[in-house]
This record gives sequence, structure tokens and C-alpha cells, in this order.
Amino acid sequence: MKRREEMTFWERLYVVEAFKGIVLTFSRLVRNLILYLFGHEKKIAATPATIQYPNERRDYPERFRGRHRLTLYDNGDIKCTACFLCATACPARCIYIEPAEHNNPDIEKFPHRYEIDTLLCIYCGYCVEACPVDAIRMDTGLHPEVYPPDPRLFIEDKETLMQRSRLLEDNGSKTLYDMHMKKMQHVETHPNDEVKYG
Ligand code: SF4
Ligand code: SF4
Repeated sequence: MKRREEMTFWERLYVVEAFKGIVLTFSRLVRNLILYLFGHEKKIAATPATIQYPNERRDYPERFRGRHRLTLYDNGDIKCTACFLCATACPARCIYIEPAEHNNPDIEKFPHRYEIDTLLCIYCGYCVEACPVDAIRMDTGLHPEVYPPDPRLFIEDKETLMQRSRLLEDNGSKTLYDMHMKKMQHVETHPNDEVKYG
């Protein structure tokens, strides 16, 4: 275990540390102003840790827990058997399932309705861990929706979650992400337009 470091006398005074912080902030400000005035904006842009989302993107690691998808069989049928294990494991209680009887006598039931309230979701991945048939995954590489105009759009229904699987399998994760970014850029520039969220 890492031991808590003792503060020195000068650190305990706080005023010295606060003053050092102010000096650092203003020195950066003055440096960037000088660079800007002398036309060296590129050097300024190289410094910040932030990016201009949604015009720029970061590459997420492969194990990034992104937005959910419901996986499908080769014939397009949903794999989910409406067993409720994901909903039971979910600490945010944000999965809603309505089961229904399946026409196929070999399949006990399927989710007539499956919804995830992504405003409540904490992206912990417990639902994925709990699923016994690999019917739900978070491997889309998509971060949560940022600003849909209607809060109800944060609720992702069964068709949205299935469609995400189709898009991922047909076009790959890069295309899925590019579509997402394009949509975000459109919302940024035309906030009042109707946009289909998926
Ligand atoms: S990621 Fe976590 S919070 Fe979100 S739906 Fe799954 S179990 Fe619930
Ligand atoms: S996604 Fe998996 S755990 Fe959740 S109801 Fe469907 S089969 Fe069960």
C-alpha cells in the first residue's frame, strides 16, 4: 500500500502552493498569448490535453466498454432468451425486459421488449458478464450519447440495440463510430433538426 506522503512546512501553509499554481497558470497564459500574437497557433494546439469533440476523436482501447448491442444469430434472430440475469445483475436497475413466448417450441421465450435507460447506466459491464448466452455486448466502441434533443432518446430499445449489431457486423466498428461522429457533428451545427439516434 502506498503511504500517504507528509506535507512539508511550506506546503502546509497553502499560500505558497496557491501562489505557485497562479504563477504556473499565468505563465502558460502569457506564453500562449505570445505564441498566438506571433502566429504560432500550432504550437499552442499541441499543448492542451483536451480535444475539439465532435470534430476530433480519440481512439478508444479495444477493451473500452461502449454502448450496448444485442447479438444475433446468423439468421438475424435475437440471441437473448429473456432470462433476466442481466437486469438482475444491473446495479443501476436500468434494464427493462418484457418476455414473450416464442413460436419455436425449442425456445422458451424471447424479449418482446428490451430497453436500457442509458441515462441511468454506469457502463459497468455487469450485464455482459451475467449473460449466459453472450446475447449482450459492449464492444461497439461508442461512448454514450451526448446530447439528444429529447431525453427519451437516451432509452435504447430492442431494435436500436439489434441494429447496432447488424451495423457492426456488416460495416465494422470504424464505420459505426464514423456514423456516430457524423451525427454528433450534425447535431452540433443543426441542433433543431430531426436526427435518428441509434
Ligand atoms: S453496463 Fe452496468 S449499469 Fe449499464 S446496463 Fe449493464 S449492468 Fe446496468
Ligand atoms: S441479454 Fe442475456 S442475460 Fe439479459 S435477458 Fe437476454 S439472455 Fe438473459
